[in-house]
Amino acid sequence: MTKSNHSKLLILGSGPAGYTAAIYASRAMLEPTLLTGIEPGGQMTITTDVENYPGFADIIQGPWLMDQMKDQALSVGTNIVFDTIIDVDLSSKPFSLQSDSGKNYTCDALIISTGAQAKWLGLESENKFKGYGVSACATCDGFFYKDKTVVVVGGGNTAAEEAIFLTNFASEVKLIHRRDSLRAEKILQKRLMDNKKIEIIWNSEITEIIGDENPLSVKQVVLRNNKDDSTKKINTDGIFVAIGHSPASMIFKNQLNMDDKGYIFTEADSTKTNVEGVFAAGDVTDDKYRQAVTAAGMGCMAALEVEEFLSE
Ligand SMILES: Cc1cc2nc3c(=O)[nH]c(=O)nc-3n(C[C@H](O)[C@H](O)[C@H](O)COP(=O)(O)OP(=O)(O)OC[C@H]3O[C@@H](n4cnc5c(N)ncnc54)[C@H](O)[C@@H]3O)c2cc1C
Repeated sequence: MTKSNHSKLLILGSGPAGYTAAIYASRAMLEPTLLTGIEPGGQMTITTDVENYPGFADIIQGPWLMDQMKDQALSVGTNIVFDTIIDVDLSSKPFSLQSDSGKNYTCDALIISTGAQAKWLGLESENKFKGYGVSACATCDGFFYKDKTVVVVGGGNTAAEEAIFLTNFASEVKLIHRRDSLRAEKILQKRLMDNKKIEIIWNSEITEIIGDENPLSVKQVVLRNNKDDSTKKINTDGIFVAIGHSPASMIFKNQLNMDDKGYIFTEADSTKTNVEGVFAAGDVTDDKYRQAVTAAGMGCMAALEVEEFLSE
């Protein structure tokens, strides 16, 4: 363990939560080190048009927005390091963290802003059209489908909520579910069934997404009926994959309190975890809002709370 790897504050993650925490902490002279993880810029780098981040009247691009946040963090003095933590020991102070590059980092305070990953179908064609008609966030991208046809994939609460939400914009919403019943709460199921714009396609799985090359855009999905093995194509302008998210919190298991999905628990109206000096911000602790602006807000809260903690 070298002394140079010790920071008063270590921030894990370079999404909106991590960069915002870094900007506030740097300006408070906490000299934070931010580790980017394997996805510098976080989830916003896998989307294209962003229309709901405050401050921009024009549509901006997700990767561009994250570059701006990074530049701002650098300009106020954040030490940004491309590294990923693979093991942590929060049982004694300073906290000790091992990275996949073989380094040991220690810190007096830790902000965990490791985010979450949307679960995807795993199709090659899905990868190709991500950000160009394939999305995992109806709140973010629903607005782009005014009077269009969209499909939603999934059968749980998120899929039901996203399908209902999308009827505010789309003319037709097709919910594709691989089983013959939904896992969503009964009240949501009733709302789905009562909504004239929604059609549920049961026992079906998307096997391929078909679209145009120039510009990249979705046109159809191939569905396989898993009861009789038949296939059919249906037309659609967009696909919303709503089969869940996985918070990036595995390395903190058994050290921090979290729910059964792995979302880290924080105190009410705070980013404090159950370990004093460890704070969690953004999607890693938020199964509800999952937005860049809420993640950034929590990053700000975490930095202010760290400042208070370190001054005590
Ligand atoms: C396709 C798509 C489109 C979206 N569109 C919008 C939109 O238009 N508007 C909007 O507000 N929101 C949008 N969102 C949601 C938004 O991207 C997230 O809510 C937001 O990025 C969460 O920020 P975060 O900082 O919590 O985490 P993330 O953005 O998930 O970043 C997590 C960071 O942690 C790092 N990391 C992970 N594990 C480790 C580790 N072990 N060590 C070090 N670092 C680690 C990763 O490399 C990454 O940099 C979209 C999401 C998706 C998937």
